[in-house]
Amino acid sequence: MHIGIPAETRTGETRVAITPETVKKLVAKELHTVLIQAGAGAKASISDAAYQEVGAVIVTDAAQLYEQSQVVLKVRGPEPDELAHIKKNTVLIGLLEPHHTEGIEAIARQGITAFSMEKLPRISRAQSMDVLSSQANIGGYKAVILAANIYQRFFPMLMTAAGTVKAARVLVLGAGVAGLQAIATAKRLGAVIEAFDVRPAVKEQVESLGAKFVEVPLTDEEKAKAETAGGYATEMSEDYKRRQGELIHERAAAADIIITTALIPGRPAPVLIKEETVQEMKPGSVIVDMAVETGGNCPLSELGKTVVKHGVHLVGMANLPGLVAADASALYARNLLNFLNLILDAETGELKIDREDEIIKGSLMCIAGEITN
Ligand code: NAD
Repeated sequence: MHIGIPAETRTGETRVAITPETVKKLVAKELHTVLIQAGAGAKASISDAAYQEVGAVIVTDAAQLYEQSQVVLKVRGPEPDELAHIKKNTVLIGLLEPHHTEGIEAIARQGITAFSMEKLPRISRAQSMDVLSSQANIGGYKAVILAANIYQRFFPMLMTAAGTVKAARVLVLGAGVAGLQAIATAKRLGAVIEAFDVRPAVKEQVESLGAKFVEVPLTDEEKAKAETAGGYATEMSEDYKRRQGELIHERAAAADIIITTALIPGRPAPVLIKEETVQEMKPGSVIVDMAVETGGNCPLSELGKTVVKHGVHLVGMANLPGLVAADASALYARNLLNFLNLILDAETGELKIDREDEIIKGSLMCIAGEITN
């Protein structure tokens, strides 16, 4: 199989879908040829020479790469000018934004077979391929590092000859993969942490990382609804949202740093920090809004910017994993390699797409142009 990796063209994208480590594994049995566009790894500190050393072929031009590839690995979905170059029946794998129907339809019209990595089921067998988790983990770490960089005080409590400095109070909203890593990172820096999530099941995980779980008392009906089959958050009742809002307002006003990570797949992010809450926060406090790309958990945060409003620093940087490009690429590339092992025959190297497989069923968006998801 000819496996092609073009340079990412989306503004601000620094990651790359393959690393020398995964090239080495792909070419080991001499079943595949790996073609990489020149400079594809540069923003993740991977040189063309490093790829060549392990057996990849460097191709100067994207059009030429698409022409020669039967499988294309990408980080972000193709832009229209990239899509125009992708041949019929190519297998495309990447973060294709499955909720963006027009984008998927355009891919299908091209006669492509496409897998959207965001749609992998969150089952144990798919864990090694779970790009949402690997990238959210990095994002959660970087969110805390960004906050610490902007915050004009210490994170840990310090007892010095010049007196004592209080520890920073961090509030993490949404305790999924990103939120739990944010808690762990803030803890390592010595902060005092509180965390909140609509899924009561995460209480134990939050506490095991040394944070306090902020609890909104639930009715029995709400308890049943809070855990859905896939483990994702669903939208809650108006009454729950009111009680939640009051509690978050109170805890936010007491916090120095807020990291918000609350997402609902395919929907706008829930608003958790309203303007009146920001007004109540201490001057110099920091909010890092990790949901800014889907509308934000705070309406005051601005995509791609750090702004100061009511004395509070609001960080709305998009693509936080892209700020840790080398490790984000390393993990992403391993996820893709594990996925490739599912769709490529280990003996012959040929494609074997088992449409009954739960992982394939979940992530296959279209096959030879026919929309399947
Ligand atoms: P996510 O990125 O979709 O959302 C982040 C967090 O925000 C979630 O914990 C969610 O409950 C929370 N949230 C949503 N609305 C909220 C609100 N209004 N207020 C507060 N919090 C809110 O989540 P994720 O990190 O991708 O994880 C999703 C689920 O998948 C979790 O249950 C996680 O444990 C599970 N998971 C399973 C596996 C597996 O392989 N078994 C792997 C990774 C994640």
